[in-house]
Amino acid sequence: MNDIDWNDYSIETQAIRAGHHRTAEDEHSIAIFPTSSYVFASAEEASLRFTGKKPGNIYSRFTNPTVNAFQQRLALMEQGERCLAFASGMAAIMAVGMSLLKSGDHILCSRGVFGNTVLMFENYFGKFGVSCDFVDLTDTAAWAAALKPNTRFLFLETPSNPLTGIADITELAELAHQNGSLLIVDNCFCTPALQRPLALGADIVVQSATKYIDGQGRCVGGAVIASEEIIEKSVYPYLRTGGATMSPFNAWVFLSGLETLAIRMKAHCDNALALAQWLEQQPSVAKVHYPGLPSHPQHELAKRQQSQFGGIVSFELSGGKEAAWRLIDATQMLSITANLGDVKTTITHPATTTHGRLSPEARAAAGIKDGLVRVSVGLENIGDIKRDLLRGL
Ligand SMILES: *Cc1c(COP(=O)(O)O)cnc(C)c1O
Repeated sequence: MNDIDWNDYSIETQAIRAGHHRTAEDEHSIAIFPTSSYVFASAEEASLRFTGKKPGNIYSRFTNPTVNAFQQRLALMEQGERCLAFASGMAAIMAVGMSLLKSGDHILCSRGVFGNTVLMFENYFGKFGVSCDFVDLTDTAAWAAALKPNTRFLFLETPSNPLTGIADITELAELAHQNGSLLIVDNCFCTPALQRPLALGADIVVQSATKYIDGQGRCVGGAVIASEEIIEKSVYPYLRTGGATMSPFNAWVFLSGLETLAIRMKAHCDNALALAQWLEQQPSVAKVHYPGLPSHPQHELAKRQQSQFGGIVSFELSGGKEAAWRLIDATQMLSITANLGDVKTTITHPATTTHGRLSPEARAAAGIKDGLVRVSVGLENIGDIKRDLLRGL
């Protein structure tokens, strides 16, 4: 099992079998290694490992067998050469910035990315002389016009949160490369089960494993997937020094999450499409944002780029914030939480939660209206989900 080339297998099989290097105990299920350090056979052996002349575990800030199994499995699934796990999705994004950027560099980022990503780029990288501009995710001409000679990378989420806008990854990768820049895609909403940005031309994928990869709302984690060169030269040295490490226990939870990712994503997508179609029929709903609807402006692109349309549905109520809060408070079963990608359906009001720390201008520019409600559609019976929403519609 240890010497199978998992590249020859499909993603469903990789998700279940890749990355597990069975120990001398012959365990069938992967083991957790809760150890901070490792023992070396001799002083020379220790020296060889520390200097990287001999492979092997050194210290669990940057080498742990359970975390390593998760990294190998996710790298295969994302069709990347290498993956590094981090303590959270934000730690993964932070790591990419810390390892690639220097003072004077420029970031080009899509509007409407995860609120903390905006704060990371503007407040924290900005503090060290990195500038950032935001452009409309779906407007390739706007990306082209905003590129600068010092643009180190383009960063985007597709589908975006919470409005589910879709960017053309291949087109933007070409644009980035013509400018000598890298394209980074936050693949949290689709996961590799629905979309593989690296295969479409992106250079780096970041993941929040907290969402669909766990899938049951238990652990916080993240990952960076890229070429061997980018990881080995830039991101791995940062992880080793920066230390925002994923714990072995969390890696173990995420490994079992990956095993069911493909079937869960299919079920999330089926429920989400049914819900989006139903919401479009409701008189108090002014607009539904879901890439699976023919009314979605990038529906055709989503069909080409993704295998299904994802589990996130957003919709605008004509009654503004009041109506949105009333709807949320009228639900009985749905969880009022900003988390997403859970088997449990969650409902949130982006304007006052996930995007609440943005200035009103930044929020308006990102298209987050006061009447907007985001539902991360779970795996409960779709009839029960609709009934719960109907109470407040
Ligand atoms: C949640 C999320 C993140 C951050 O991940 P954490 O694991 O919460 O740090 C980044 N990007 C997107 C799209 C997210 O939804």
